[in-house]
Amino acid sequence: MRPNKVENPVPPAENRASAALVDSYARRIDYIRLSVTDRCNFRCVYCMSENMNFLPKADLLTLEELERLSAAFVGRGVRKIRITGGEPLVRRNVMSLFLGLSRLFGKGLDELTLTTNGALLARHAQELADCGVRRVNVSLDTRDAEKFRAITRWGELAEVLAGVEAARAAGLKVKINCVALKGVNEDEFLSLTEWAHGFGMDVSFIEVMPLGEDAVHNIESFLSLDAVAAALAERLTLSPSTHASGGPAHYFDVAETGGRVGFITPLSQHFCDSCNRVRVTCTGQLYTCLGQEDRVDLRGPLRSSPDDSALHAALDEAMRRKPRGHDFVAQWSGARAPSRRPMSLTGG
Ligand code: SAM
Ligand code: SF4
Repeated sequence: MRPNKVENPVPPAENRASAALVDSYARRIDYIRLSVTDRCNFRCVYCMSENMNFLPKADLLTLEELERLSAAFVGRGVRKIRITGGEPLVRRNVMSLFLGLSRLFGKGLDELTLTTNGALLARHAQELADCGVRRVNVSLDTRDAEKFRAITRWGELAEVLAGVEAARAAGLKVKINCVALKGVNEDEFLSLTEWAHGFGMDVSFIEVMPLGEDAVHNIESFLSLDAVAAALAERLTLSPSTHASGGPAHYFDVAETGGRVGFITPLSQHFCDSCNRVRVTCTGQLYTCLGQEDRVDLRGPLRSSPDDSALHAALDEAMRRKPRGHDFVAQWSGARAPSRRPMSLTGG
């Protein structure tokens, strides 16, 4: 479903720093996904090439700039920040950013969270919990060590499982994210779900998206989540859940396990009408939609002056430009070129 365009007046300059972020389709933006690095200790086949070129460090927002930017967003009504990447936990001193962001609790921020490949989670889980992180998403497409290595190229399954364990021990609620890949992990959807639910962890299945240098390869490994649902339904009873995470997943309760399964189907566009989020890359580019190329630079305004007025003007500009919905279907069908922007730049 697609929302209708409405008049979107620019807030008067004197109110800008506290005016809510509302786009031209009357959608209120209260969630940011903030990528803190494009680097990663894995090279997942659907995300990065093995000899990936990373950005020069000077292009990245500093930790102080990331904190300042987050504070500006929270001042404008953002209640949830998800830290992502690349792999956020490989960013040097990233824990000092979490500590800084934890100071935004009580100033409007309700939730600080993280998406991680889990490899360094064992090292940081307790500190994350101490900074007020309550939930983490851990990406795990398979529990087979060899397949895991084949998908991630550089990853060690045991490290990720240790990370999941440490997160649970620190009291963090863990959700497993699994990209469904044709011919790769099709045989594991049921066992992965039963395993996760056995430890009280929800699972979300994700359709592979045509992003990055190898977008065409991703189209070949695309598997509709209908196939995942069918595989689960052979042994489990799924009924639509009342649970809503504020994200694009459709949730189902599983009668046999008491757990939940989410299905993230970006191609279906069913979530565009209620889209409440924007993404900021590690270089400070605000992408108003995961599936579109339009972006607004925030790094220039951040660096141009210690005062945030230029930054707020850029946020208002982004609100005017947030598109109605994504174009994955056109990209998929070949009507438009797939995005070459990898997920590691914008974050998942
Ligand atoms: N490195 C962290 C991780 O893997 O969780 C955070 C960043 S990663 C880009 C975020 C999520 O995007 C992961 O769950 C990953 O599986 C997913 N992802 C990456 N490339 C994708 C693609 N082409 N299609 C669908 N999901 C993708
Ligand atoms: Fe790294 Fe996450 Fe991309 Fe895998 S999906 S290469 S872990 S950023």
